[in-house]
Amino acid sequence: MAKAHVVIFLTFQKLISTNCNLYIAGLFTFTRSKFMEKQFDILPLNDWLPIENFPLVISGPCSAETYNQVMDTAHQLAAIPQVKVFRAGLWKPRTRPTTFEGVGNIGLEWLTEVRKQTRLLTAVEVARPEHVEACLKHKVDILWLGARTVVNPFSVQELAEVLQGVDIPVMVKNPLNPDVSLWIGALERLNKSGIRKLVAIHRGFYYYHHALYRNQPMWEIPIELQRRVPGLPVICDPSHISGRRDLLLAVSQKALDLEMSGLMIESHCSPDNALTDANQQITPVALTELIASLVVRQSKGDTAFETKLEILRREIDKMDAELLDILSKRMKIVGEIGQYKKENNITILQIQRWSDIFYDRLNLGSRIGLSHEFLVQLLQIIHEESIRKQEKIME
Ligand code: PEP
Ligand code: MN
Repeated sequence: MAKAHVVIFLTFQKLISTNCNLYIAGLFTFTRSKFMEKQFDILPLNDWLPIENFPLVISGPCSAETYNQVMDTAHQLAAIPQVKVFRAGLWKPRTRPTTFEGVGNIGLEWLTEVRKQTRLLTAVEVARPEHVEACLKHKVDILWLGARTVVNPFSVQELAEVLQGVDIPVMVKNPLNPDVSLWIGALERLNKSGIRKLVAIHRGFYYYHHALYRNQPMWEIPIELQRRVPGLPVICDPSHISGRRDLLLAVSQKALDLEMSGLMIESHCSPDNALTDANQQITPVALTELIASLVVRQSKGDTAFETKLEILRREIDKMDAELLDILSKRMKIVGEIGQYKKENNITILQIQRWSDIFYDRLNLGSRIGLSHEFLVQLLQIIHEESIRKQEKIME
């Protein structure tokens, strides 16, 4: 059993089980558009931010701190061909109130200088309508909504209202929690206000347990976002995912391999002295090295490659059909067992039997190269469905 086709199956399984009104497989033909958001009107990134030097990089300090820090960093970044946009936080949403909360409006004047003195566009995080108004007054090129703002539909709505009818690109970071609908909702509110130059930024998801990453990447979430909102450009923010410099390259590479549209990477002329996010910021020189180390892969290969790929994909298609067929047969037998239990007044779940199945299949699967984590999830999902099926029969 190849891993890839089980993953496809699981995605499909999730899809049908979360849309219970459509859970009448066999009577229903699912069309692609049933699972896509159709209300979006988004301009392709290339229409308003053409990329001459791949990959597109947005860079600059986590926070603007001083005029000199902003100008020094911006001038160094302007020498990197891939960097098109200079980012800087002016109003910082901090966890604790005693830490640096940004320089505020004065920073807009520094960014005006960046626009005058370099070829870079400017981008600022906005969280309040006043921030938007101030940015528009100072002709900031691009706005973005931070992860802490996107969790709150009231805040997003206020921003969408003040942006009604304004022609400015807006980037929307994912909310702190891994909720793709909340992310889509924020994008939708802005799109309904007429913002067509829309971008999503994947910055990872808060996890209470401190692990390798500062924010878990959970790559399946931005992938699901792109599936549901086709044509939406997604840029990865490896800085806030990693939280530390040594992970930036691997996360950036992964983002490119997943065909994301660009990278937002925090940089600072003196990162160790940064007032916010010091551990993850890098110098413009380190950014140049990082970009040079990235392997740029094509999304399509030559004819021989495409032919071979096509053959392998056909095999996967066939196996998926077999896999679904086996599962359907398995569920039919589960149904028969349910009926038999009902007639004999026996409970649905016999813990001992489930425990035996679980360990037996875990061992079986491990012996043929399936990972423990994958098997646990697969067995659980099949078992849950079996119980659901028998519960229906008992009713
Ligand atoms: C930032 O970009 O500096 C920032 C505050 O990011 P996030 O909203 O992703 O935490
Ligand atoms: Mn930051």
